[in-house]
Amino acid sequence: MSCDGSVGRREESQTGNGNGNGVVASSRPLYASHRLRLNPNTDHKPENYDDLQLEFSPSVFSSLERYLPPSMLNVSRDAKVQYMKEILSRYLPEGERTRVQRHREYRQKIISNYQNRCGRMWRKSLSLPTHKKKSLSLPRRKPLHRELYTIHPTTFFVPSFIKAISENTEESLRSIISEPSPGVYTFEMLQPRFCELLLSEVENFEKWVREAKFRIMRPNTMNKFGAVLDDFGLETMLDKLMDDFLRPISKVFFAEVGGSTLDSHHGFVVEYGKDRDVDLGFHVDDSEVTLNVCLGKQFSGGELFFRGIRCDKHVNTETQPEEILDYSHVPGQAVLHRGRHRHGARATTSGHRINLLLWCRSSVFRELKKYQKDFSSWCGECQREKKERQRQSVAASKLELFRREGESMI
Ligand SMILES: [Zn+2]
Repeated sequence: MSCDGSVGRREESQTGNGNGNGVVASSRPLYASHRLRLNPNTDHKPENYDDLQLEFSPSVFSSLERYLPPSMLNVSRDAKVQYMKEILSRYLPEGERTRVQRHREYRQKIISNYQNRCGRMWRKSLSLPTHKKKSLSLPRRKPLHRELYTIHPTTFFVPSFIKAISENTEESLRSIISEPSPGVYTFEMLQPRFCELLLSEVENFEKWVREAKFRIMRPNTMNKFGAVLDDFGLETMLDKLMDDFLRPISKVFFAEVGGSTLDSHHGFVVEYGKDRDVDLGFHVDDSEVTLNVCLGKQFSGGELFFRGIRCDKHVNTETQPEEILDYSHVPGQAVLHRGRHRHGARATTSGHRINLLLWCRSSVFRELKKYQKDFSSWCGECQREKKERQRQSVAASKLELFRREGESMI
């Protein structure tokens, strides 16, 4: 996503270095006239793009729509899609387009065999050549709990959480949220029954994976166990969870890292214990805001440890004593933190622990970040450096003052 100034700069540098690699492929035209507004039109109600097969999440289009120039706001949905696709295409090089296409096929293959509708009907509706449709046939298994695939607040969440979100004031949110260390927020969130259902659903699609001998993609480079929930049909439900329940909280507590403009997510479960992952090294998440909720079951160990928030440049700098926090998981209780909050998980020493993770991202924040150097509003080290610069400047001013006083004494 881009705002007025950045688009111009990109095209200039592309022409300047002359190699044409990177963002704009030489075979595609430059849409120099396509511009977005710098600030969103917050009164505008965006269209719903959920039914379209797009290279980016439908919510990216809904979010981007508010940045369209006024003349584009009332044109047809197709025209808007075309306009936004042309802008977004500058951010998707050929290699990435192939990867996105492959991932879409991978997900279709799973959903056509593990889904609510009749597999044959589903395959028929796909816009793929017949030989590709045939290759989608695998042993089939149906979801166990259809009620998980759309949000039902009263059966998913505890009453205190629903109340705070529906009141939607900073005061109501603070009344249910604890902050055991700056930037780490915890609160009661999921009903025990919902945790049970989700655990059994995860077990059910893992059974399908074994029956079908299907190689699934793991949630990230660090977890060898667990599954991406978005690939198994839970994407819409998790999008709604982010939009309606996490964005109101992030808007208040994580505004400086795009908390109010979260527009895409990566949702998955991780599994720890015997015959699963043991622990998780020190890292940052590929997210602006991360939700981490323990679903169960019985376990010991597995504490999360936090070590301060850092920008890319400072990710390996020292931890200050006040940044140290160890947190023990409680099933149903959520932990919400910035993706750039450095953390890891200690070994799960006995039993079996499964956590739900939702990495929430903001395309607006990511775009704007490219043109910023100082992150002292959230990076602990940038903050420390800024204070040090201020301290030195005050010290220099004092010295100058003493020198002048000294001179006038002579
Ligand atoms: Zn920094």
